[in-house]
Amino acid sequence: MPFARLGLSPALVHAVREHGFTAPTPVQAAAIPPILQGRDVRAQAQTGSGKTAAFVLPLLQRVLQAMRPGEKPRRLRALMLVPTRELAAQVGDVLRDVCEHVAEPPKVVVAVGGVSINPQMLRLRGGADIVVATPGRLLDLVDHNALKLNDVATLVLDEADRLLDLGFADELDRILALLPPQRQNLCFSATFPPAVQKLTDALLRDPARIEI
Ligand code: AMP
Repeated sequence: MPFARLGLSPALVHAVREHGFTAPTPVQAAAIPPILQGRDVRAQAQTGSGKTAAFVLPLLQRVLQAMRPGEKPRRLRALMLVPTRELAAQVGDVLRDVCEHVAEPPKVVVAVGGVSINPQMLRLRGGADIVVATPGRLLDLVDHNALKLNDVATLVLDEADRLLDLGFADELDRILALLPPQRQNLCFSATFPPAVQKLTDALLRDPARIEI
């Protein structure tokens, strides 16, 4: 099944080809269509399965459709929460690579803890369309009024099992309470132990279930 058959726009199919991906991986083939339709997704997928592009590509397409050219400040439409700095950088890299071939790319900000918050606050001036963040730093930025979450249309939890293992449950609760109730939720996790299951049960509405 080629990427174009999954519902991705010609511009993104082109971007994916330029990136050297010829065919979607199984998790991409399963996740891209329901994400494009606006559905919630619960995906059990390991690192290495191509899971990052499985949510980055369709989310990018939805954000591009929602963006109004020249709109200032930019509205944060997609929030991707990840457990570690390394993963944030990796997701940010995939977004940047794909956006290289997009005519009017979204503004993407990667915000992680362990480094100074000031450059991140500066980057967020004028808003951002997509934010990739670790939960603690995201809350710090909200507390500094650098970021508002009231326009978030899609939330991604990437490696949800590790988010909980690393003790981010309270931060996640606080973030969820700040998001608009009407939104799309995507949860990717390598494993679904009871704590992750409980989180996804509370979060997801009639999700497309994917197991790779
Ligand atoms: P991930 O599971 O998202 O960490 O991705 C694992 C690796 O697979 C990354 O190095 C990607 O560049 C690569 N990858 C993702 N999707 C594809 C694809 N459709 N074709 C070839 N390689 C891919």
